[in-house]
Amino acid sequence: MTEFELIKRLTAGAPQRAKGLIRGVGDDAAVIACDGKRDLLVTTDALLENIHFKREWTDLETLGRKALAVNLSDIAAMGGTPRFYLVSIGLAASSAASDAEKIYRGMNAVASEHGAILIGGDTVASGLGAVISVTVIGEAKHGRCLYRNGARPGDAVYVTGKLGGSALGLGCLLRGIDSEGARPFIRLHNDPSPRIAEAKKIASTGEASAMIDISDGLVQDLAHIAEESGVGFRIEAHCIPIDGECKRLAVELRLDPLKLALTGGEDYELLFTGPAGMENSWITCIGEIVADKNRRDVIGKNGDILKLDRTGFDHFG
Ligand code: ADP
Ligand code: MG
Repeated sequence: MTEFELIKRLTAGAPQRAKGLIRGVGDDAAVIACDGKRDLLVTTDALLENIHFKREWTDLETLGRKALAVNLSDIAAMGGTPRFYLVSIGLAASSAASDAEKIYRGMNAVASEHGAILIGGDTVASGLGAVISVTVIGEAKHGRCLYRNGARPGDAVYVTGKLGGSALGLGCLLRGIDSEGARPFIRLHNDPSPRIAEAKKIASTGEASAMIDISDGLVQDLAHIAEESGVGFRIEAHCIPIDGECKRLAVELRLDPLKLALTGGEDYELLFTGPAGMENSWITCIGEIVADKNRRDVIGKNGDILKLDRTGFDHFG
């Protein structure tokens, strides 16, 4: 069973309808009507030791930054502004106080950068290594959120920034490589920047039709948009933005930079759809949405359809 099949099964029997609930399970954040002018956004994500990170791969302050940043990224994916957050933290009793302080120092810094305010949480002992679960509450102008389900045939597909760098960083960590050249990519992996400002610019055009943040990997996250929108896609491998240094180092490590960009995950860039002509210095057009929902094609240099053995990160795959 994949992670997504499991979520479907788990949530199937739960009560899920309420007056004022605009979107529940199934998007980057839940959306709740607030005062008619604004909608409330709520999202939660956990980081677990030895699943999402290893102690020897990151310092605790940076870990705290990431724990909040990945949640802010889900608010960005809706086109929203983060406002409040809660933190549940589980740590081994022996190291709890000083470890938690370092993690909080990192979260405090990211929260300040984005104007988010801590409003609560929970503190427990953990026998399973560190666990940090963050919930973020954000807001957006009423009716202005961008959902996964708005993509239409003929829309162009866009991404922000460059892809594959975080996966390359993870590849370096897994191989114990800590060279000067590897460090920027390790940093991308350990300390991602949520694209809040970029997302607001995209949402404020009023032109984008669907949006998601890239956490599982480009192909997997585009598949989420396709699934929710009832459409297919066709993206061009040669259009996918990959940093030159990323390509060089990946090849040196015998990694395929294109595969890192397509399926690596944790880029925390934005993936969105909309009319032609939205590209600029930080937005790249990589393909288009098609009507046939069975088509999820990545086109190679020679016009051939690339086969992917793994479409992204799946905790239960
Ligand atoms: P993201 O990668 O954007 O954080 P996820 O893939 O984690 O999104 O989750 C997809 C959707 O499923 C979200 O709406 C999330 O709230 C919901 N979800 C995930 N796990 C559970 C769960 N155990 N119970 C209820 N809803 C869940
Ligand atoms: Mg997301």
